[in-house]
Amino acid sequence: MTERIRQLIDRLEQSRSLTVPEYAELVAGYSEEAAACLADKARRACSRVYGDAVFIRGLIEIGNVCRNDCLYCGIRHSNRNCARYRLSADQILSCCREGYALGFRTFVLQGGEDPSFSVEAVCALVRAIKAEFADCAVTLSLGEYPTAAYQAMFDAGADRYLLRHETADRAHYQSLHPPALSFDNRMRCLRDLKAIGFQTGCGFMVGSPGQTAQTLAKDLKFVETFRPAMCGIGPFIPHKDTPFGDQPAGSVPLTLYLLSILRLIQPNLLLPATTALGTLRSDGREQGMLAGANVVMPNLSPPDAREKYTLYNGKLHSGAESAQHLEELRQRMAAIGRRVVTDRGDAAPG
Ligand code: SAH
Repeated sequence: MTERIRQLIDRLEQSRSLTVPEYAELVAGYSEEAAACLADKARRACSRVYGDAVFIRGLIEIGNVCRNDCLYCGIRHSNRNCARYRLSADQILSCCREGYALGFRTFVLQGGEDPSFSVEAVCALVRAIKAEFADCAVTLSLGEYPTAAYQAMFDAGADRYLLRHETADRAHYQSLHPPALSFDNRMRCLRDLKAIGFQTGCGFMVGSPGQTAQTLAKDLKFVETFRPAMCGIGPFIPHKDTPFGDQPAGSVPLTLYLLSILRLIQPNLLLPATTALGTLRSDGREQGMLAGANVVMPNLSPPDAREKYTLYNGKLHSGAESAQHLEELRQRMAAIGRRVVTDRGDAAPG
């Protein structure tokens, strides 16, 4: 690692901020030595805020019907090979019951943008979950909605909302999405969610086609200034039935490097070691934790839904990725000195 990179890392640790050109320099200056240095600082920053705790979220993939046509995503509207499904409210509540018994106190409802799943239906579902599991947090990850719809979901009791910004570079955003989706609307959604009072999560894929050190630098600056409660990042993984089907997957070491940088930018950030990371490396979740992550989101969806919620090829849904195998996850976290906890795991102040 050069002296310059060492200086940038020290300054990031102290001021939690760099300029966009400096972030780009740090990203482009990746080396194993710099990664190890960042990971060490990131782990210490995380443990000062959260100790050895690993928060778990039960992920329920409520449907894969989607009106959007994101170029990277396997459940995009124009993928004819995708077998579509939609869980009923009863099925979703059964997933929550199973998850609650396993120790989950956060349920994440994620799905495609399905117009037939109305705002009122989402609100009714949130109310039903909160009525039965008053001590649990409900996170929604259902894409873009008008302001009033987000407000209604919040009023119904939803606590958190995950909407990855995908990339903070306008032209790059447009190259990953169809013309019907706009960078401005994505940013409007994120601002709305935060203003309404949701614990808001943004995030991006690492290695999406067209991504550069410059666009990543903008992502880092965006997180620094937006100050989300959560930030989900994972490597891009191609899906054969998408326009990006023959693009290379994103880099695991670069994902870990960025996790460490994000932890130093915002020490109280909720940072998941994502399924995509676990898909590319069998020890991806452990590697993520060792780089500064503190959240895992095991899958609570019914088995046939898991098969069909194929955002990318090879997506993991068994083993430690499955909510039913929490014991395996506990052991794997214990082996790296971390403890899976079963509280709601809200963001610490900071
Ligand atoms: N419809 C919801 C949920 C999208 S799926 C929404 O719009 O928020 C959740 C995330 O999976 C996406 O935000 C995207 O960053 C990620 N994802 C989609 N396709 C992917 C791929 N091919 N490789 C890696 N991650 C992908």
